[in-house]
Amino acid sequence: DAATAASYVDRHGARRALPDAAAEAQVRADDRTHVFHSWSAQAMIDPLPIASGDGATFRDYQGNAYLDFSSQLVNLNLGHQHPDLVAAIQEQAGRLATIQPSMANDVRGELARRIAEVAPGDLDKVFFTNGGADANEYAVRMAREVTGRRKVLSMYRSYHGGTATAISLTGDPRRWRNEPSDGSVAHFLGPYPYRSSFHAESAEQETERALAHLEQVITLEGASTIAAIIIETVVGTNGVLVPPPGYLQGVRALADEYGIVYIADEVMVGFGRIGEWFAVNHFGVTPDLITFAKGVNSGYAPLGGVVISDRIASHFDTVAFMGGLTYSGHPLACAPGVATFEVFERDGILERVRDLGARVVGPRLAELAEKHPSVGEVRGLGLFWAIELVRDRETREPFVPFNAAGADAAPMGRVAAACKQAGLWPFVHFNRLHVAPPLVISEEDLVRGLDIIDAALDVADAEVG
Ligand code: PLP
Repeated sequence: DAATAASYVDRHGARRALPDAAAEAQVRADDRTHVFHSWSAQAMIDPLPIASGDGATFRDYQGNAYLDFSSQLVNLNLGHQHPDLVAAIQEQAGRLATIQPSMANDVRGELARRIAEVAPGDLDKVFFTNGGADANEYAVRMAREVTGRRKVLSMYRSYHGGTATAISLTGDPRRWRNEPSDGSVAHFLGPYPYRSSFHAESAEQETERALAHLEQVITLEGASTIAAIIIETVVGTNGVLVPPPGYLQGVRALADEYGIVYIADEVMVGFGRIGEWFAVNHFGVTPDLITFAKGVNSGYAPLGGVVISDRIASHFDTVAFMGGLTYSGHPLACAPGVATFEVFERDGILERVRDLGARVVGPRLAELAEKHPSVGEVRGLGLFWAIELVRDRETREPFVPFNAAGADAAPMGRVAAACKQAGLWPFVHFNRLHVAPPLVISEEDLVRGLDIIDAALDVADAEVG
């Protein structure tokens, strides 16, 4: 990597100037003085100033390059500065930068059509939002309107967004400080074979018992009060929990039996993360509503939405849907969405993700699990994996406690620091290291990143025992 004091060579071989130290100092000063950051104690953070991005790599102001194994917040599916996405925004900005949601617009319509074409079953209409949280808010609102019921069930191990209803739906500790909020949410336990809440000894048992538990929750909460069940098709920030065979089919069957709307939250896993347009396609289930965001345009402009079944959409044929956002289906966000479809099809992105997952990532992580005593389990699909670290493989005691913060979280901080030192930006959550690089990462960079993780796991091994 040819970084020098004043310039560096990018991956296309072009020499580029580094921003100077004064520029970096100004970014830091403005940020620390005036930017109020999400999910953070403001005095405890020191955000790294980022100067540029290119494909699966971004650079700080010192010229250090980081392989982005987090895809930012698992949204940058087509990588930094993808030329087709950038061009689509530029072209759209030159033509019609904005138009209100109640008017028809070419890119908004084309994106909705393309999404409907790859969505399962009769999910044929799209309600656009600004991101994932509001997509979930609106999906719940639709379910409540259609069923005339209020309550929503969601998993304890889940994240559904930071806004009012979405944070209530969220099952993990991020919701605690916002409670009590939306009083009509109840949580249930989802499948997690490695730490089975149901004392299951096989995936089949886990499916069977998790479904029996869900049915019990439905009965105890009162089926006639429940509007919707919302489930991340593959649970994301709470651990890349891939549902065992039959689980989502079972959820579908329970939803049908009790007249409950099944909402699949695909904000993180939609648009190629596991090698399918929608992850439900992999599991062969058709929800009533699918929420999406992130990968739809790789986060180049804020965009999310709800894909709606004909049955639910038709409820609103003659009854107004009471909801909307000024920037719903914004042209500057939809244009890179349409370009995303073109790039995925032209470059065979879905096939590539399935291939790299099955041929490169899966086998290598299995090797790491053999080699490193700190690795309890590895799991995932496509380019979406978790490495769960434990202090003891027998007891499965997590490497840091659940909801670890401050000094408790320091051991994971050391693993993350080892990754960063070696040029990899990791995604770390509690006792897990996630592998979620941009879907366009070269095989060479993917292997290099896995090598860096391999070495960083030595740091974890040293603390085991
Ligand atoms: N749902 C899931 C599964 C997510 O992972 C996220 C964000 O990480 C959200 C919803 C919230 O999306 P947003 O941050 O765009 O509001």
